[in-house]
Parts: sequence; C-alpha cells; structure tokens
Amino acid sequence: MLVLGIESSCDETGVALYDTERGLIGNQLHTQMAMHAEYGGVVPELASRDHIHRLVPLTQACLAEANVNIADIDAIAYTQGPGLGGALLTGTSFANALAFANDKPVIAVHHLEGHLLSPMLADDKPEFPFVALLVSGGHTQIMAVTNVGQYQLLGESIDDAAGEAFDKTAKLLGLPYPGGAKLSQLAKEGVTGRFEFPRPMLHSHDLNMSFSGLKTSVLTTVNKIKAEQGEIDEQTRKDICLAFQDAVVDVLTRKVQDALKQTGFNTLVVAGGVGANWKLREHLKQLPAKVFFPPLALCTDNGAMIAFAGAMNLHKAQTVGGFDVKPRWPLIATR
Ligand code: ATP
Ligand code: MG
Ligand code: FE
Repeated sequence: MLVLGIESSCDETGVALYDTERGLIGNQLHTQMAMHAEYGGVVPELASRDHIHRLVPLTQACLAEANVNIADIDAIAYTQGPGLGGALLTGTSFANALAFANDKPVIAVHHLEGHLLSPMLADDKPEFPFVALLVSGGHTQIMAVTNVGQYQLLGESIDDAAGEAFDKTAKLLGLPYPGGAKLSQLAKEGVTGRFEFPRPMLHSHDLNMSFSGLKTSVLTTVNKIKAEQGEIDEQTRKDICLAFQDAVVDVLTRKVQDALKQTGFNTLVVAGGVGANWKLREHLKQLPAKVFFPPLALCTDNGAMIAFAGAMNLHKAQTVGGFDVKPRWPLIATR
C-alpha cells in the first residue's frame, strides 16, 4: 500500500511517500526557520501563507522523486492536529482536495503519533511494548506504548516543553531562533562545574517534569554576570549552555529510568526534536534498555512520519468528509 503523508502543523511543510512493501520512497521538506528567525519565533499567519506556496511543488517533487503517479496512491494521510490552527488548515484542505479530485481516501493523523512512531522508520526498529520519551518543541511526555494506537501517558512537563526551554534559554543567551540546536552545539565546548542549575521535580516521586524555573534560573545568572561585567564572554556562554543542558538531560534521564522501572519494559523509544540532542542520546544509551532514536533528519517535523503513521492506521481511511482541524488534541490512552 502506498500512502502520501502531508505535514503542516507548524513551521515545516513536509510531503512524503511511504510504501508498506518498500518503505520510505519519497521525502520532501521545506523549513520556514529562516523566515521566522527575523521575528524570534513562529509567526502563525506567515507560516500558513508559506505552507500554501509550498504544498503543491513539494508534492510534485515527492511524486517525481518516488517515480509514482498520483493514481497509484492508496490513501492520503495528513496532520489534523495538534498545532497552529491556520497552518493545520492549509495541509488539511490541500490533502482533502487532492484526495477528492483523485478519488482517494484520507487518513487524519495525530502529529504526536507521527513523532512517536518515527523511530520505526530507522533500519533497526523497536518492538512493542516500549516506553516512549517524546521531547519536542511543544511537548515533553513519557508514554507506555503497547501497540499502534495504544498509548498511556505516564508523565509530562507541567509547564514548558523541553524544546521550548532550550529555545527560550538560547534566546536569552542571545542565540538566533530556534536556538535549541545551536545551544547544544555551544555546550560541546563548555567547561563542566562552573555553573550549576536546579533539577526541578527530580525527586517528585512521579514522572512529571518542570522546565520553566530552569530558564528563570539561567536568566538570573545571566543578569548577575551582566551587572558585574557588562557582557557575557564567549566561554562563559558556552559554560552556561553546558550547565543548562546537563540539568535538562539529568531530569529527562532520571524520569525515563523511573518509567522503565515502573512499566518493566526493556525498550525505550525517543522521539521529537530534542531527541537530536547529543548529550541526551549519550545518557539515555547508558540506561539498562534497548534504546531507539529516529534517524536524525526525522527528529523534527517532517512528512515521512505522517505518511508512516497513516500507513499504520490504514483501517481509519475514510472518504473525504470535512475540513476540520484539531489545534488542541491530546493523544489519549487508547483510541
Ligand atoms: P510539537 O511536535 O510538540 O508540536 P515541534 O514540532 O515544534 O513541537 P519538533 O520539530 O519535534 O517540535 O522539535 C523542535 C524542537 O527541538 C525545538 O524546540 C528545537 O530547539 C529542539 N531541538 C532541535 N535540535 C535540538 C538539539 N540538538 N538539542 C536540543 N533541542 C533541540
Ligand atoms: Mg518546527
Ligand atoms: Fe512536531
């Protein structure tokens, strides 16, 4: 079966083709990062407008890459939510219109299910059941996954998502948006021990987390240094990056370790943009579990994970109906 996947929930337009026999055969992506960088964050209206420009050419490029005709496709999967309302509406309208014009069924995909299943696109695939750590720009959740569609939330951040904390901290350190990846690069040259930031909720005896206080703690440190010396020198900035990253990674690692103990599962799957973080990867690999990461290029938003999640949910294929999106949409226990 051949599934076309369309992603437009935030600032990436992704179109991909997944073949249940051959795997991923087409994958096109456009990121709006540079466009939003000027404003220091995603501007929803600009995001929607840009998706509209990209969807058709990316779909054409994807079909050409896979050497597939639209008539050969079995279903069109698209991200219905969660995400920015206007941005979701562009991909949803496009997918449904394309399906209607070509007499194909559609599959509405949950964006987080896409992230969650993306490690199954790697050569070395995880097997159910597993603990999933979903660490993205908008979510930080630990889940028990027993099968496709069987997701139980074990714990989550009660405030900022880990990726959001990385981006906000990067911003207050003067790094361009989105600074998460840049911050972690600078951390590579940081010196351990110069700064120490709190590990919020490390001992909360549950699997919930909190990252907003950490960012405030970095802000207080930065303001203090600025008051004393005027500007922050490059090495100090790197040392702060490292200390901040260590605090986030420590909390995530500890909570995941507890989740593995609690469930008794011996497989861990990491998904979402922060899953690209080198320090987090290093630490999680040391846990007593088989650890799976998505291919680096599929950590952040992309169409491939939507095409794949669509292919895993073929039973949900339906004829084109409404054009409704779900900007807020929890990934519930069992759907
Ligand atoms: P959601 O999926 O929850 O709606 P999102 O799609 O915006 O959110 P992703 O695309 O999965 O999130 O991930 C983007 C986030 O990952 C950003 O916050 C970014 O800073 C962060 N990120 C990317 N690379 C790294 C890295 N190497 N270290 C830390 N954070 C990173
Ligand atoms: Mg993005
Ligand atoms: Fe995402």
